[in-house]
Amino acid sequence: MATAYRIELKPGEVLFREGEAPSTAFLIESGNLRITAERDGAPMLLGELSAGALVGEMAELDDSRRSATATALTACTLTPIDRAQFAERLQAADPVVRALLLSQLARYRTALATFTGNEPEPARASAHLESAHALDKIRLESQLRNAMERRELEIRLQPIQHIASGSLAGFEALTRWTHPERGVVSPADFIALAEETSLIVPVGEYVLREVCTALRRIANEASHAKPFVAFNVSGRQVGDADYVERVLAQLRRYEVAPAQLKIEITESLVLDYGQIATLIERAHKAGMQVALDDFGTGYSNLGHLHKLAFDTIKIDQGFIRQLEDSRCLAIVRAVIGMAGALGCDVVAEGVETPEHLAQLKQLGCQYAQGWLIGKPLTVDDAIAALTR
Ligand code: C2E
Ligand code: MG
Ligand code: MG
Repeated sequence: MATAYRIELKPGEVLFREGEAPSTAFLIESGNLRITAERDGAPMLLGELSAGALVGEMAELDDSRRSATATALTACTLTPIDRAQFAERLQAADPVVRALLLSQLARYRTALATFTGNEPEPARASAHLESAHALDKIRLESQLRNAMERRELEIRLQPIQHIASGSLAGFEALTRWTHPERGVVSPADFIALAEETSLIVPVGEYVLREVCTALRRIANEASHAKPFVAFNVSGRQVGDADYVERVLAQLRRYEVAPAQLKIEITESLVLDYGQIATLIERAHKAGMQVALDDFGTGYSNLGHLHKLAFDTIKIDQGFIRQLEDSRCLAIVRAVIGMAGALGCDVVAEGVETPEHLAQLKQLGCQYAQGWLIGKPLTVDDAIAALTR
């Protein structure tokens, strides 16, 4: 039956019976079907379905036995829908949406079983586990919202060295969340989580305020130094047409010069060429620089690079870690050469050894960032490093 293109039912014919294992769902093309469940040995009407409705899809979703019988009231035409089609879409759906759907379905089945006096089928253990993961995500998202109110999010400033002079040129702001129960949550995890919803917007604004506060403190407490602070922005923030204006408003509020702030855009975000081009143009007009982060890990689209006037290219740490490898070295050398020809500075990320630093210096790379130069510092420690 599942492989038939169309199914025709005569009035009174049964499509499936209560208690059967699920096989296929159906889309009603024409005609009406009656849905009944047995109560005390007699069929009880649950509803009637007509053209355009899905029938038998519940069992497809949660893999339970049929909880009702479907009988044709009139002549019906149905299109069978293979369960793989549902399974694929359900798997591709947001886990939270999936958990919501399955929880509603479980509630309906329990209500139906209570109504008919039958035992509801127990939920599968894997479904429980899956919803537990989804709920954990929702919980973490709520906690992240609270974390901003309780100021549990903090920035750390990782030093960036000007290689030729050995001086401290600036920092990259990296966000840290110390969760009261979970401990330190990696930004890779919570930023990705925030990016799934619009929560990234308030998180981004929070980070920007922290960065401006740090720059204000640096101006007050280490006034001779004029380091830049680079900070990471996400796709949803870049999508906001007024993003640069919002940044400028914060800079004015904290009385920070735009030249001290650098926007980092990760390479995988540089998909919407027009958006990024506008952002760079507006940033430049205001005196702010823009860096292309994690170069070499995303699309490395040279067609875009030649049109986008980035000020800095940050070579991803994956390349720096393997500088011993001659092919990797060749790539890094070529990227530094290309960046120079384009008028961009290069920051090597993930510099962990003196050998790598020496090699980068020889290759003409301008800046280095990594454990060797310094781990991400608290704002207090960053100020101390500037005043040493
Ligand atoms: P990223 O912007 O490429 O930041 C560099 C990452 O490399 C940081 O990880 C940093 O701690 C790490 N790192 C620096 N030096 C070394 C080194 O020598 N060796 C090794 N193994 N790692 C090094 P972190 O702090 O875990 O951040 C991960 C990513 O999370 C960042 O990658 C950035 O994409 C994102 N992120 C962090 N803070 C924010 C934020 O406030 N907003 C947004 N949108 N993204 C953020
Ligand atoms: Mg970065
Ligand atoms: Mg990076």
